[in-house]
Amino acid sequence: MKYKNQVFDNVLDLVGNTPLIKLNNMTSDFKGKYFAKVEAFNPGHSSKDRIALFIIEQAEKRGLLKPGDTIIETTSGNTGFSIAMVSIIKGYDCVLAVSSKSSADKIDMLKTMGAKVYVCPAHVSADDPRSYYQVAKRLHEEIKGSVYINQYFNELNIDAHYYSTGPEIWKQTEGKITHLVACSGTGGTISGTAKYLKEQNPAIKVIGVDAFGSVIKKYHETREFDEKEIYPYRIEGLGKNLIPSATDFDQIDDFVKVTDEESAHTARQIAKTEGLFVGYTSGAAMQAIKQLNEVDQFKENDIVVVIFPDHGSRYMSKIYSDKWMSEQGFFDSINEVAAEKIQY
Ligand code: PMP
Repeated sequence: MKYKNQVFDNVLDLVGNTPLIKLNNMTSDFKGKYFAKVEAFNPGHSSKDRIALFIIEQAEKRGLLKPGDTIIETTSGNTGFSIAMVSIIKGYDCVLAVSSKSSADKIDMLKTMGAKVYVCPAHVSADDPRSYYQVAKRLHEEIKGSVYINQYFNELNIDAHYYSTGPEIWKQTEGKITHLVACSGTGGTISGTAKYLKEQNPAIKVIGVDAFGSVIKKYHETREFDEKEIYPYRIEGLGKNLIPSATDFDQIDDFVKVTDEESAHTARQIAKTEGLFVGYTSGAAMQAIKQLNEVDQFKENDIVVVIFPDHGSRYMSKIYSDKWMSEQGFFDSINEVAAEKIQY
């Protein structure tokens, strides 16, 4: 039942329909208008609420889930939180295999939301039995009646954004969007949103954001897996050491690579200048926009939508900790001119 006056049956009724917020200060020197799709307004504080709810409801429709069954996933945290939230409301058990790169805050949050969490080493290959992919696969085989969400290789991940994020952005910009800028992890957000938007207007340019240390940009250019691209980096949820089938590379026009350091500073700058307390990959996406402006990518009449995937509270022990920033050496390279520019 739907209630009036902002009264809801349960928290899941609040998934999606996130606001588009104009960026006024950070982009004042840039050509074009910039709007952020702020996914922290989802009840689980990230875009992953959309895929958790969509994929679980699709499994229900196909008769794969009954109350008390187990949902399994590999996750850097956000998807796990969203699955845990959906599981509580719908009466499922939630089991998560998490990378050791995830922040302690995220892991504690998942446990608080009732999930059983397995922490797996981050810097092993995907086919290593200790990797979170292999651990999840093994648990899926062991637990009877379990459903494995498998967000990197589940094309329903693309559909979730095709049916929600894409139409919302089209409606919110009244069809005037010219560019979409979004981080690519599983690739579900950028692929599904781009697919819907390009169906409405094929001229819309879609720019993916990738990390140095990830294989995604190179694969987009060559369609070849180049192991030499892979090395450890700090941003969680962006880029990959494998090619996810939840990324539809044909929907993406270009990729931009960003560094851990610049993305961290840009995330802090978003908070200081726009009053938006968002996560590390929001900083990465905005950093890509800065780099695109340096090469004069945008024109005066462009309407650029950038996706801010999650909330800043998940990074208190990382990019929003001065101690962590110093330990990474992220303050070392800031000279006075740069410091003034980023308004510390
Ligand atoms: N930002 C964050 C914080 C994420 O957790 C993810 C998902 N791994 C992304 C961006 C990328 O979204 P997608 O997986 O849809 O490409």
